[in-house]
Amino acid sequence: MTGRQGSSYNNSSVKIPVDRLFHPDVEAIEVDQQLRLTGDLAARYPDGVHVSARITPVTRGVHMQGRLEGTEAETCVRCLEGFARPATIDIEETFSEDVGRDQDFFADVAPLVDRSIDLSDLVSQLLEVDEPMAAICRPSCLGICPGCGANRNAVSCGCEAHTPDTRLAGLARLRDEMQANDKNGR
Ligand SMILES: [Zn+2]
Ligand SMILES: [Zn+2]
Repeated sequence: MTGRQGSSYNNSSVKIPVDRLFHPDVEAIEVDQQLRLTGDLAARYPDGVHVSARITPVTRGVHMQGRLEGTEAETCVRCLEGFARPATIDIEETFSEDVGRDQDFFADVAPLVDRSIDLSDLVSQLLEVDEPMAAICRPSCLGICPGCGANRNAVSCGCEAHTPDTRLAGLARLRDEMQANDKNGR
């Protein structure tokens, strides 16, 4: 027998009761749910995230395996423009009644409290770990011109045409000097 988790929740904290999995007849609970986020995460993921997962029983607990998908409103560190970053995160979590509430910080296995999984809690933890240190809109982003501050993806301001030239000219002079020294046998 397979149970399906309903998707109409209004509270900010979404919990999935897994008590049914402790009954020998229940093999799994399927989760297919759109989740609204609160606070800082609501600003970062304005459309929320989608969780699709399967929860199965293990000894004295449950195992959750699946995927978390969302689109994050990011700001590119190079060009400072906003962009949508698709995020897909694997869910692979074990919850056990043998793990104490205060132990979760150090354990690979999370505590199973009141025979329910706090989905909001799990999702915010996973999204925090997934957050890139420096998000860029695309690998080829040209960024902001250090000379005039223009977004070089949108305009070619002309500054870059000169800057590398002077640097190359300096290198060329250095090369000439080194070659001259070689010829002099030093
Ligand atoms: Zn960019
Ligand atoms: Zn410029």
